[in-house]
Amino acid sequence: MIREISAGGVVVRQLDGAWNIAAIEPQKEASQARPVRKTSQTLLLALPKGLVDQGEKPEQTAIREVQEETGITATPINKLGDIKYVYVRSWGDKQRVFKVVSFYLLRYQSGEIDDIDSEMRIEVKRALWVPLEEAVSKLAYSGERDIVRRAQEYVKSHLEA
Ligand code: ATP
Repeated sequence: MIREISAGGVVVRQLDGAWNIAAIEPQKEASQARPVRKTSQTLLLALPKGLVDQGEKPEQTAIREVQEETGITATPINKLGDIKYVYVRSWGDKQRVFKVVSFYLLRYQSGEIDDIDSEMRIEVKRALWVPLEEAVSKLAYSGERDIVRRAQEYVKSHLEA
């Protein structure tokens, strides 16, 4: 089976005394996603991530992908964990892909959320801050929900003291 290695970030930031994370609403239809109903619209939220380039460290990929997909600059705190899934490519010969995504906890440094390049709109409908307390119920993929639970635990035990 084809393998893909990606990395992504959970960027945390305190806004009005509450911890938030940077999430994206992807443009594409996500077949394996659990659509979350919000008012009359279907909301699909995911974490920013992307393929690890040759010679790049996964942590660097996470920071770069966060910058490209959300517009914000973030600095690393630590690794949260890996998620694994299999998907079928919708293009070409419809190959099955085994994918591993490493997620890193990052701290917001600078920049305006959703201030992204116009080419990035092909992938990202919008980027937004989501309260950490609500993020688990709003994310579409169970693996990413687990990662955000780990981020919640880390924030509670290390950043809130
Ligand atoms: P990348 O963002 O790593 O560059 P991509 O956008 O090409 O990659 P994915 O986001 O992995 O690819 O999406 C490929 C397929 O996998 C889509 O059908 C998507 O719905 C599905 N998918 C994405 N993330 C997850 C996940 N965490 N769990 C299960 N399926 C997922």
